[in-house]
Amino acid sequence: MKNTGLYYKILWVSILIGLIFLGSLLVLFISNRKEEKFLFDSSKKQFSKEINAVLSIYGRDITQTVNDYTYWDEFYEHVYKNDTGWFENNVTTLIESFHVDYVAVFDSTFHLVHEASGEGFSERNFIPMDALIQLKQDRILNFCIYQSNKAFGISSASIHPTNDPTHRRTRPKGYFFAVRSYSQDTMDDLSTILGAETRIISSSDSIASQYKYSFSSEYILNDWTNRPVAKIVFTKNFENLKLQTSFSWNIFLFLLISLILSWVIIHLSLRYWIMRPIKLILNILETEDSKQINQLKKVSGEFEKLGNLFEQNIAQKQELRLAKEKAEGSDQLKLAFLANMSHEIRTPMNGILGFTELLKEPGLSESDQLNFLNIIEQSGERMLNLINDIVNVSKIESGQMNIYLSKVDINEQVGYIYLFFKQEAEQKGIQLILSNEGKNDQLFIYSDKEKIYAILINLVKNAIKFTKKGVVEFGYEKKDGYIEFYIRDSGIGIHPDHQEIIFERFRRGNELLTRNYEGTGLGLSISKAYIEMLGGRIWVESEMGKGSVFRFTIPVKAVPHH
Ligand code: ADP
Repeated sequence: MKNTGLYYKILWVSILIGLIFLGSLLVLFISNRKEEKFLFDSSKKQFSKEINAVLSIYGRDITQTVNDYTYWDEFYEHVYKNDTGWFENNVTTLIESFHVDYVAVFDSTFHLVHEASGEGFSERNFIPMDALIQLKQDRILNFCIYQSNKAFGISSASIHPTNDPTHRRTRPKGYFFAVRSYSQDTMDDLSTILGAETRIISSSDSIASQYKYSFSSEYILNDWTNRPVAKIVFTKNFENLKLQTSFSWNIFLFLLISLILSWVIIHLSLRYWIMRPIKLILNILETEDSKQINQLKKVSGEFEKLGNLFEQNIAQKQELRLAKEKAEGSDQLKLAFLANMSHEIRTPMNGILGFTELLKEPGLSESDQLNFLNIIEQSGERMLNLINDIVNVSKIESGQMNIYLSKVDINEQVGYIYLFFKQEAEQKGIQLILSNEGKNDQLFIYSDKEKIYAILINLVKNAIKFTKKGVVEFGYEKKDGYIEFYIRDSGIGIHPDHQEIIFERFRRGNELLTRNYEGTGLGLSISKAYIEMLGGRIWVESEMGKGSVFRFTIPVKAVPHH
């Protein structure tokens, strides 16, 4: 099939539809991915905000307290009184109430005035000198110290009188530090609040390979010079995002597979339901193959109907062809018959005229005269037979051949035939045998005497005509309800191809073989017509060069057929 066939057109359309579908699928997929990314980014931003908010709240209480304490006249005075009791009562208590790990108070010359620490914090002189110097300058300072993998958040402020809340109007009278470590408990709390894994690492470290659907946000911790020393890393897994992504992937895959599947289904059904029948139709139109018509009829629906129509159409065509062949054939037969006929008429006519002329000669001997008269008589008989045959054929054809039923003595009939041909056969050197002679003395049937006689005459005459030497034997057998006659000869035989057509009118056997035998091809067809009229049938068994047996049946009680 060419590339322009229906199949390819439909195929292209389905591919095009598939591509459009695939394109929209891709657009859908890409926008979905974009939405996911947007979701991811905004979640990340939100997460960072949450971290900052939570951590700023986390440090706010102690920063506020440190700030409040350090513009308070009483605190300001006690820095130089060295009143340990006061510090114990007012400063050390902060450790309990604010969950602070360590507090320290320095005078304006950076001498440690008081320090105290909570459980598990054994360090002394924890605040570096540089931080003190920085605080002197900044007045309020929040920073971080990171040492031996631990981070400490420190709130500090310089000490001033009550009337200086900004810590800027007066010179610092001392310095106050509150230290709170980022303990494991704190980290656990943060984890719970933010729903993320929480860790503290040095600012120079980074977290190794990350899970695709998680993101990390860092909270940087600076020292007193605002230099990063550590960071808290929050890692959050976005399982729902992962779910969504895999879901959209799954949908994409599902749609893709169903696209391919439906394409395959379209393709296969196109092949099976449309292309196969169309191919069948094309083949049927070319070859009229009945097997393919049957296949087409099995495809239900329109194609089944088409198959039926094809069948009818082909049958009609066949009938027309046969009718045409028959018409042409009978035309040819008639032509051959006419040619044959003119030969058949001329031969005896020439005999009659020629020998009549010879008879006129004076002084003919008596035996010559008798001889010539015999020939003239035979020729006349042959002409008469021919005319009878033609008249009989036309009568049969026009349905005017009548049947006259009467009691027929079969033995008498075959006896006549024997006597009729005995001499002719002997003259030809052929032995004529009547097999049933004397077997059944009395056998009567109810049939048409003349027709049975004519049939037997025809068949025995043919047997003698087509036999050069040997035997012609004829007779009958009594069967149940009918009589079967047979005429056997040792003649030229009939080719299997001709064993049926010789019974058709004007048809003679092998052209080469029969050319030398007189005849018109009417005898057997007349005999067959008679036999069928009487309710019997005729057939021949023969072998080329060995001889033939003609058999026919006549019912014991004939029911006339017209
Ligand atoms: P005709 O004998 O006038 O040709 P028939 O209708 O009697 O016509 O026979 C038709 C043909 O059948 C003959 O031409 C011959 O070829 C063949 N035929 C008939 N009888 C015999 C026979 N006994 N042996 C061989 N061929 C025969």
